[in-house]
Amino acid sequence: MLFTVLLLLLVTQPVITDNDEECFEDTFCIITQESDEGVVLTMRPLIVWDITLRVDMELTNLTPSRPLPLVLGLGGRLPQPLVDLRIKEPGKPWSFSFTFEWVTGRLHAQHARSVTYALPYSVGSRYMVGQSFHGNVSHQGKYAIDWNMPTGTPVLAARSGLVVATEDSYRQGGNDPALKTRANYVRIRHDDGTIGNYVHLSPEGVRVHVGERVREGELIGLSGNTGFSTGPHLHFEVYAITENLERKTIPVEFRTRGRSAQILQAGTSYGH
Ligand SMILES: [Zn+2]
Repeated sequence: MLFTVLLLLLVTQPVITDNDEECFEDTFCIITQESDEGVVLTMRPLIVWDITLRVDMELTNLTPSRPLPLVLGLGGRLPQPLVDLRIKEPGKPWSFSFTFEWVTGRLHAQHARSVTYALPYSVGSRYMVGQSFHGNVSHQGKYAIDWNMPTGTPVLAARSGLVVATEDSYRQGGNDPALKTRANYVRIRHDDGTIGNYVHLSPEGVRVHVGERVREGELIGLSGNTGFSTGPHLHFEVYAITENLERKTIPVEFRTRGRSAQILQAGTSYGH
């Protein structure tokens, strides 16, 4: 999810000190501290996982301490400085406005090299990969896997991590690109900052909560057919966040029966 917020402050008379805080979507707050030298912007996170933030500004009579737009990876609980805006010509009017967008996820997260993934379904079951990396139905330019599986199949975490987002209120699915944003999902942030995305889950099919830590092999939901989907399947991808706040998917390997690390191929069934 991408958010855009516009704040506009117009100040003609510099104020000696004035602190102001505004919070967004229960995700973070921006603290604005004004002085006779200018303005300092600080971000205070309200969540413990990573946020990637992009800030664009329009400035009058102010010089930013770092180049704009700012693209910052932020995480943890402590307030973090964003930018200082210094008044160029004291006594003259100054103003600033900014827009910002953010996504959950760590900027440029580096996938741990040695990590392999568990198949996200129970030991003893086998499912066929309908589409693999760069599959020509809907995975062009994406390192994603689709396993064909009946609706209601238990989906297990392929890797341990922290649940950072869930959705299971959607009920519809079909071969219609308009349904792209209407799939149910669970997103798990791994310790290296990458995010595992489990998509097309059943209505009310999520079995974990945001903020919960899950271990590999734990039940996280039930598969389904919600969103842009031509039949019951589980879509899985691992991604990092880029400078443009887009998702960059990462090729990952799975542990399968008899193989300790394998790139999965379309048309093949895999079991543990
Ligand atoms: Zn897919």
